[in-house]
Amino acid sequence: MDQKTISQDILLRMVKAFVKNEVAPYDMEIDHTRSYVNNLWSKVKENDFLSLMLPEEYGGAGFNGRTSAKVINEIAKGNASLAVTLEGHFKSVDQIVKYGNDELKNEYLPQAKNRIIAFSMTEPSGGSNPMGINSHAEKRGDKWIINGDKIMITNGGLAEIYCVLVKTAPDELSFFVVDNEMEGFEYGKQENFLGLTGVPVGEIVMNNIEVDESHLLGKVGMGKEIGDSAHDDARVLMGAVLTGIMEHELDLVTDYATHRKAIDTPIIQMQGIQRKIADIAISKETTKLLYQKAAWMKDHGQDYEEEAAMAKAYGSRSAVKAGDDSLQILGGYGYSLDYPIEHLIRDARAMEIAEGTVEKMRTAIALKEAESRA
Ligand SMILES: Cc1cc2nc3c(=O)[nH]c(=O)nc-3n(C[C@H](O)[C@H](O)[C@H](O)COP(=O)(O)OP(=O)(O)OC[C@H]3O[C@@H](n4cnc5c(N)ncnc54)[C@H](O)[C@@H]3O)c2cc1C
Repeated sequence: MDQKTISQDILLRMVKAFVKNEVAPYDMEIDHTRSYVNNLWSKVKENDFLSLMLPEEYGGAGFNGRTSAKVINEIAKGNASLAVTLEGHFKSVDQIVKYGNDELKNEYLPQAKNRIIAFSMTEPSGGSNPMGINSHAEKRGDKWIINGDKIMITNGGLAEIYCVLVKTAPDELSFFVVDNEMEGFEYGKQENFLGLTGVPVGEIVMNNIEVDESHLLGKVGMGKEIGDSAHDDARVLMGAVLTGIMEHELDLVTDYATHRKAIDTPIIQMQGIQRKIADIAISKETTKLLYQKAAWMKDHGQDYEEEAAMAKAYGSRSAVKAGDDSLQILGGYGYSLDYPIEHLIRDARAMEIAEGTVEKMRTAIALKEAESRA
């Protein structure tokens, strides 16, 4: 085994122990209180989880896409909200690594060990259609002046650094990096979402924020490419989260069905229950294969857009269905707010919308299928 494989194994063991001791016991409390408990967030920073995938030259551990996705998967088994919080940061760091100029990278990447970076595209005027945004940046001398309002941002309010999509001309999209210490930056309203209630999702307002040219991500007009790249990265990691949710469901239903008896027989012996458990297991394994294939393709420099979209499109619907089957297996307890199944359904449901809706992903998958046959 090479050094990186050994350190990957050690890392995954460490993450598993962290999840068992510090995350899983608080899963219900995080959901009910809509916040992280027991200083969980400071422990994430202390364990250097924020910089796992940051290249070593910027002070990170430099783990590849597959390892980062496996870490997210392990965390999601204990609490999906914490996994999505990390997913939002990882995919944002990835875009600065890919598209940032040297000055921007040297300024922000070392900070990514302690300060969360978020990715902001959606506005009140729409999320699926990036050309519908109103935020804009205007060039004045050697500065850019940024104005606009971004909503529904994963880690909005918690994150301190934001990649923001703006118009640099009526039909031109570009990305800039701003931070919460800049004059004109304000946090706005927090969303009151149905699931993933541990994730702060909120608004940022930009009033005449002035930035240097170095804060431009990529080049002017590269907004769509960078947005698509972030979505691809996020969808791989969301596949890992959804796999984790289904693993959590499987733990609960197999334990319950083994111990719960009906007519003196454990219900796991009954075909109707077996069929549901088997279907959850098949969905979990399929989503796992899809996200791991996409992560492998990413690590090997291949186009993984379609596989990433499949992992999230398939995984999100499957995890909601698996949650519904799990609820049924637990009977009345499954329907109770005192058991975790109901919040796993709410958590999974978010991923049919966040990082591109499943409708948009099916468009992407269909076009890729046609392209590969042209
Ligand atoms: C938990 C969560 C976290 C989020 N985090 C972020 C974040 O970090 N950053 C960020 O920028 N945004 C984030 N969002 C916002 C998310 O990206 C948008 O909600 C999503 O892109 C859809 O946009 P919309 O809500 O404006 O719906 P709309 O775009 O108005 O879509 C409404 C409906 O129309 C369908 N539709 C729209 N266009 C098409 C089309 N061309 N073809 C087929 N169907 C279509 C959609 O699929 C949807 O069903 C988050 C959302 C959630 C729920």
